[in-house]
Amino acid sequence: MAAPPSTPEAGPTFAVGIEILPYQLVAVLLDSSGGKLGMRRWPIVDMETATVIDQVATATVELVGTTLGIPLPDPRITIGVQIGGPVSTKDGVVLAYANHPTDSLYAGRDYHWREPVPLADLIRRETGCPTVVENDGAAFATLEKHYGVGQETSSFAVVLVRDGVGGGIFLNNRLMTIPFEFGHIKVQPEGRWCVSGDRGCIDAYAGRRAVRAIAGEVIGAESDLESIEAAIAVCEEGDIEARQVIAAFRQAGAAVGHGIATVLSLFGLSHMVIYGLREMVDPRSGRKAAEAFAAGLNSFPSLTYPLYRSAQVITRAMDVADGAQAAGLVAVDRLIRTCN
Ligand SMILES: [Zn+2]
Repeated sequence: MAAPPSTPEAGPTFAVGIEILPYQLVAVLLDSSGGKLGMRRWPIVDMETATVIDQVATATVELVGTTLGIPLPDPRITIGVQIGGPVSTKDGVVLAYANHPTDSLYAGRDYHWREPVPLADLIRRETGCPTVVENDGAAFATLEKHYGVGQETSSFAVVLVRDGVGGGIFLNNRLMTIPFEFGHIKVQPEGRWCVSGDRGCIDAYAGRRAVRAIAGEVIGAESDLESIEAAIAVCEEGDIEARQVIAAFRQAGAAVGHGIATVLSLFGLSHMVIYGLREMVDPRSGRKAAEAFAAGLNSFPSLTYPLYRSAQVITRAMDVADGAQAAGLVAVDRLIRTCN
């Protein structure tokens, strides 16, 4: 059971962290030091902004109500949200949000927020709680600041390998609120088409969406493989198709490695952290796909400025609650620690 609620006169004390994903959200409740008190997942019936905001409010009310017994609004409760699109950090406006969900369950249910959405304001209005909204890469960098390499270095970056590829960066202990379009660093002139409308981006080789498409092409399937798990499974089969799909995972790792080399040379970082599906990015999983990804990734030193070739590149399996916890920590940093 959670810590007892503090007195109503207290300032902001708890943060609800919410990760908005295609057709679902994950929410955690954190105390003021970032400790996790509760976690839940909810489906979202459609990805219209009004539906998403309504579900964020419902999730917050239920999680806070069942864990702490506090009805909303309440001055002790803050909300941090993360979303996989560019965000204006100072006012929590989502500048664009689109996705082509890779899960075959949602095939054909692409969505696109074409106009900027003042998501922080809209959630604040719906819940009565102070709210911050951050891009997923920046949120994961905040998670890493609190619990990862941020404990040993002041300057590092994270890379997220999800449907697409994104990232975030801390320099001298400050989260950089700059566009950090890691996934759209160009690694192959005239290469594969990217969802950004450009060619040869990292995203076009290394995101789960891209790997599924490439794997489908190399084995001559009529469409993309139905899931990244299916592509990972093909790699274990030992035939010529398996070798071709393994090559696609190696290419994915090499694309990320190329981007890492670029970022290391630009910022002189000591550490970079890659978050992704365990069976894709972590060779300790024993999967051939992950071994191939790691082999591709390890090409980065030859492309890096010599001084930074010894930087540590660490891979982490992305756990289901990591994104929500990361979002909650953004609220802890901006709405709780700065107030109390
Ligand atoms: Zn691109």
